[in-house]
Amino acid sequence: MSLKNTGHIISVIGAGLAGCEAAWSAARYGIRVRLYEMKPERFSPAHKYAGFAELVCSNSLKASRLGSAAGLLKTEMELLGSLTVPCAKANAVEAGGALAVDRERFSDSVTAAIKENELIEVIPGEVRDIGEAKSGSDIVIIATGPLTDGELAQQISQLCGEGLSFYDAAAPIVSYDSLDKDKVFFASRYGRGGDDYINCPMSREEYQAFRNALLTAERVQLKDFETHPFSVYEGCMPIEVLASRGEDAMRFGPMKPVGIDDPKTGRRPYAVVQLRRENREATLFNLVGFQTNLKFTEQKRVFSMIPGLENAEFFRYGVMHRNTFINSPELLNADFSMRERPEIFFAGQMTGVEGYMESAASGIIAGTVAARRLLGLEPVRLPAETMTGALSAYISDPYRSGSFQPMGANMGILPDIGVRIKDKRERYEAYAERAVGALRKELDRVG
Ligand SMILES: Cc1cc2nc3c(=O)[nH]c(=O)nc-3n(C[C@H](O)[C@H](O)[C@H](O)COP(=O)(O)OP(=O)(O)OC[C@H]3O[C@@H](n4cnc5c(N)ncnc54)[C@H](O)[C@@H]3O)c2cc1C
Repeated sequence: MSLKNTGHIISVIGAGLAGCEAAWSAARYGIRVRLYEMKPERFSPAHKYAGFAELVCSNSLKASRLGSAAGLLKTEMELLGSLTVPCAKANAVEAGGALAVDRERFSDSVTAAIKENELIEVIPGEVRDIGEAKSGSDIVIIATGPLTDGELAQQISQLCGEGLSFYDAAAPIVSYDSLDKDKVFFASRYGRGGDDYINCPMSREEYQAFRNALLTAERVQLKDFETHPFSVYEGCMPIEVLASRGEDAMRFGPMKPVGIDDPKTGRRPYAVVQLRRENREATLFNLVGFQTNLKFTEQKRVFSMIPGLENAEFFRYGVMHRNTFINSPELLNADFSMRERPEIFFAGQMTGVEGYMESAASGIIAGTVAARRLLGLEPVRLPAETMTGALSAYISDPYRSGSFQPMGANMGILPDIGVRIKDKRERYEAYAERAVGALRKELDRVG
């Protein structure tokens, strides 16, 4: 790729995973980049290290195997010219089938690559004004992460209207295929809305055993800055907290059975767990009102007690934590630019992608799209079959604008492959091969 200066400038705010990838991708096209980073002048409550692309919690970038969602994502990122994936591989530590890294060496190697790049100018200090950061540049990419706060958060809030959230309150998502269809039934409360919901009916004994399991299950330890605004917003109370409020609290809340008769018995069940469509294709369903702070292993154990979910395949577990993200389905195009302000892009966790590599991948897309647009080059259209394409489609699909919750890479968001492959491993390998083939074809097309 050409390294000659094109005369264009892109400003990137935040040198985290997304910001570094965005800067790197744009510079690959010969675009000059101004990369703003507030560390070490100011650290968020989770950041501790002065280097860029800091991994704030786990040091794992998840599975390496191509036939896994995380492995596929990393393979696609490498095809798209990632900086972080090669740096991670160069600083890997033993972790079985996962790509885990020595976090400081990883950060150091990303930082060195960025600082050595003659087209990238690092500008230290906190950005409080988007206009100021953008001034003199053609495009600005905002990649300040899930802990964005202060004046910048206020500005983003103004830019996005009502569309800024500060907490994740996501319920688990399961695949339709994995439900026991003999135990569940389609129906809406009082017959309103047709077959919009899948209902999992519970007897009194099942309900009580489920409640006891919820009350004794292990929870995630929250950091101080993650304490929830439950007192302010009861609607996002974790299901286990609701369960602790009294024996019937869940039956008067999300597990309310009124207006729902079980077609098998013709009677109203004692309690009902409702599942709502997560995607247009109706391959994924979320557990309505089941936002939770239980550990992932405990979610699998306890939620598998729900009739019909005994063998459920979980594509996302419930989470509740501090997470600043915008209502992307309302605001962003699939290329991470704003619909109303195409010169402004967002990248990273704040767009509603969830996870280190997902954030980094969105940075590659934003940086690449922005650079190609400035150079008048044919846009890269990420195929729907790819993990990067599916994530981009997920965050920008207006279908989700009313109840948008972040999403990480998972095979459930890829379009159906059309042939039945029973063995899960083989099925996922087929999805991954299809994705890589489609991406290579697109990259060949745009040269
Ligand atoms: C506490 C916590 C734990 C997490 N643990 C995991 C995990 O274990 N695994 C996982 O896959 N994901 C995890 N995530 C989710 C997510 O993957 C990470 O937050 C990821 O780092 C997001 O990447 P990013 O580039 O969007 O933001 P970040 O990596 O946070 O980068 C944002 C950068 O912008 C800078 N910045 C912020 N505001 C300004 C400003 N006003 N001016 C200039 N610079 C600014 C910050 O200093 C930072 O360097 C976690 C998130 C949190 C909050």
